Parts: sequence; C-alpha cells; structure tokens
Amino acid sequence: MKVPVLDLKAEYAELRGEILPALERVCQNSSFVLGEEVEAFEREFADYCETRHCVAVSSGTAALHLGLLALGVQADHEVITSPNTFLATAEAITYCGAVPVFVDIDPATGNLDPKLIERAITPRTRAILPIHLYGRPADMDPIREIAARHNLRVLEDAAQAHGARYRGRRVGGIGHAGAFSFYPTKNLGAYGEGGALTTDDDQIAKFVRAARSHGQTARYEHEFVGYCYRMQGFQAAVLRIKLRHLYAWTARRQEIARVYRRLLANARIEMPIDDPHDECVYHQFIIYAHNRNAVPAQLAAREIETVVHYPKPVHLQPAYSSLGYPPGTFPRVERACETVLSLPGHPGLTAEQIDYVANSVREVVGEK
Ligand SMILES: *Cc1c(COP(=O)(O)O)cnc(C)c1O
Repeated sequence: MKVPVLDLKAEYAELRGEILPALERVCQNSSFVLGEEVEAFEREFADYCETRHCVAVSSGTAALHLGLLALGVQADHEVITSPNTFLATAEAITYCGAVPVFVDIDPATGNLDPKLIERAITPRTRAILPIHLYGRPADMDPIREIAARHNLRVLEDAAQAHGARYRGRRVGGIGHAGAFSFYPTKNLGAYGEGGALTTDDDQIAKFVRAARSHGQTARYEHEFVGYCYRMQGFQAAVLRIKLRHLYAWTARRQEIARVYRRLLANARIEMPIDDPHDECVYHQFIIYAHNRNAVPAQLAAREIETVVHYPKPVHLQPAYSSLGYPPGTFPRVERACETVLSLPGHPGLTAEQIDYVANSVREVVGEK
C-alpha cells in the first residue's frame, strides 16, 4: 500500500472547484501583489490566530526577519533560539546582523528548554526566538517570564504551528509577535511562497507593514529603507480557501496522532509527550527510533514514505560553522537528530493507511 508523507495533488483535486474561480477573480481584478485578497486574508488569519493584527508577507523567513527587526534586533545583538529547527530561524537572526545563541531542547517536547535560557543571556541579548516545532507549542509561560525579567523581546517561530494552542491561547499571539510560513508543505500552504507576522502590538504591525514594501507609509512616501517582502494576490486567494478547511484538517491530524499513539504504544520507539494543557497541531507526527538509520529504507520497501526532520541541527551545519559550536555542545538535540523520524500524518490519509504504517513500524522496530 503506497503511503506518501504528503499528497498535494489529491488535495488540489478536491479543492479545484473552489481554487480556480478564486484565481480567476485575482486575474480579473489584477490584484497581483497585496490588494483586496491579501487584505481579506489578513483579517481572516488575524481572527484565526486571535490577534489584533496580521501582516502578510512573501515567506515565513521574511516574517521572521521583519519580526526581529520590529523587536529592535540589530547588529551585534544576540538572539536566543533552539538549534532544533529549519535553518531559516537562525538565518533571520543573521539577516539582522545579530548572532544566534543556541540552547538545548527539552527532550520531552523537542522545543527550547526554558531552564537553559537564563545562563545564555548576556548584555547583548535582545530577544528570545522559540520554535513551535512540529506544531507543538513551546513552553511559553517561563519564556515570557524570563523575557520580562531581563527586558527581552519574544518572537514565536510558528511556521509549523498554525492554530496550535498553549494553555488555551493560540500561538502567534503569546510573545510580542509570531511568524508563520505558508510554504506549500505547511499545515496551511499556499501555491507558492507566503508568510505572515501576527501581533497585538500596533507599533510592530505598523513597522512590518511599511518594511515589507520598501519602507512605504503611503504611496512613494518611504520612511526608511525597507524590503520587497509583499504577499501575492494568488497566494492570498488560495490561503483564504484553505483556511476554511484548516479546522477540519487540523482535527484530522490530531485524530491520526491519537491512533498512531495507541497503535505504537508497545513499539520500541519513543514519542514526544502530549501535554493535555496544550493543543499540538501535528505538522509532523514524529517518533524517536534507536536504530533510526535503518528504518526509512525498510519502510520504503513497504512503499511507506518517511522524512527526517532534521538530520543535522543548525549548530552543526556548515553555514554556521563560524559560530564555533563543536559536536557534543547540545547533546539532546544531537540525539534527537540521530533518532527522529516523521511518519505520514497528513489529513488525507485513510484509516487503512494509518493501520498499515503503524503495523509496519512495529514490525521494523520491534516491540518493547
Ligand atoms: C518553513 C519554516 C520556516 C521558513 O518558512 P519559509 O516560508 O519557507 O520561508 C521557518 N521556520 C520553520 C520552523 C519552518 O518550518
């Protein structure tokens, strides 16, 4: 039985009747960059995130970059984050001329361990950048408390966590701002690149609105040197349609995770904890397998596709070798990268496929 990690073709086949007229509308109005679709999406996504503002931009990376600038991150500042993430989290810090300072993860969640933050703070620290990895909220209460005590700003990397809740609150509105990605593979994916910055802070929203479009506060009125980080009309049109389906898709991802947890309870793997106070949106359903390197090929032989998110932590990437973190600096994240595996978890999976994946994983890794 073929089980892909993602099936965007099948999703399009289902949505075609909604998508094509929406794209036609963008063409008819020629609102190709920003414009009415983008404005409508911003209102709808702000409602969804329960924030006062949403500013749509051209990618999640752009949202992180402008978010950090809006929080005052500048050259020679330090920003504390986790190396258990996609490179873009750290890149956005580098774009500001600032330095990423990594701390290890809590192995139970895969997210930044708040207990390790304070010893990483220096006089140059300006912000903390927690990631809600795989759709699981980072532990925001202690992070916010530490930030308040040291007068630091908090930007959430919510690129994988559309709609996740921490202690009842939607991510993206818990720190000073949140950055979302609408890359096609994300839980809410555009048909191209896209991103958004969410915040309750009027000043942050105002800055990002100008910064995404060459620093303009009015047409041809450039307050400062900004960027070309605007969202396209086509992407907003697609995102508005998909946002209406996101509630059902997220519920389905959560249901799939419950089934996997039950079926894999006795398998020789570990799974991240599921905090009952929070709501994980399962961008990825991950397991930790001790013999991980042997597992993907054995599952592929059964036509089950898997992906490793991520095989190498950011501090060991050649791109960041200049930071000088040798292997062994962050043992928990390094261990996670050696054992982690993402199983197919997208909302289009059938009950038979989920059963088949779980049974195959049990066969391959053995029982406890
Ligand atoms: C996808 C992703 C990004 C970058 O988003 P883009 O839209 O691809 O620029 C940043 N951080 C994390 C954790 C991501 O998963």
